[in-house]
Amino acid sequence: MRKPFIAGNWKMFKTVAEARHLVSELVPGLQAVNGVEKVLCPPFTTLLAVSALLEGTNIGLGAQNMHWESSGAFTGEIAPAMVAELCHYVILGHSERRTYFGETDATVNKKVRAAITHNLIPIVCVGETLNEYEAGRTEEVVYRQVKLGFAEIGPIDGDTVVVAYEPVWAIGTGKAATGSGANSVIADVIRPAIKELFGEQVALAMRVLYGGSVKAENAKEFFSQPDIDGALVGGASLKPGEFIPITQAAAK
Ligand code: PEP
Repeated sequence: MRKPFIAGNWKMFKTVAEARHLVSELVPGLQAVNGVEKVLCPPFTTLLAVSALLEGTNIGLGAQNMHWESSGAFTGEIAPAMVAELCHYVILGHSERRTYFGETDATVNKKVRAAITHNLIPIVCVGETLNEYEAGRTEEVVYRQVKLGFAEIGPIDGDTVVVAYEPVWAIGTGKAATGSGANSVIADVIRPAIKELFGEQVALAMRVLYGGSVKAENAKEFFSQPDIDGALVGGASLKPGEFIPITQAAAK
């Protein structure tokens, strides 16, 4: 059985004061949800404050990115050990980073390897753009992103990494994929690619999330699918009235 997993990607929202306020609104409702792995991924500048507020709760903390090198002259970057000091998770390869900051399958792969080395659980994002979707290239693109993103990684357990299938056309657009459409990509492309890399047991045990305009009202449609193990939630993770019900829906 794969434990459901819900992560909130706060993106570039919330100052420290605002983050403290949001966490205080989220914690009671999230804490009460059992049987779901829950993770908040706020901006770097708020990680220290949020980690203090989450101490002693059953809610995990993640960063939204990191560099792959251990240290060095990389102005503006954050090293894996710096993330690992405060977090147990890190989002890697988000489409906004691929689109706006030039991340490639090769750089995502370096980051995934660095995360595993530092005992961080990477939440690795894959997904096709609207053009790729319309050109019928979803399978080819997602297969390539998984195979290259996880290249040259030794034997791992199913819970070492989490994959998030996030069609780019569904992110922040209000146009979510259908539950069955997302499930097909995960069942027919992502798990088979993971199986080729790491074997059947790992492919069956690894959590694969859906991301893209998940809200309280459509969450159930995704969580009732056999191959969808939870969600990476962007905009709705900033609203307790949405994020808590989404997390509750994952528990059922
Ligand atoms: C995301 O940022 O990963 C995401 C899925 O965003 P949204 O839920 O706003 O579409």
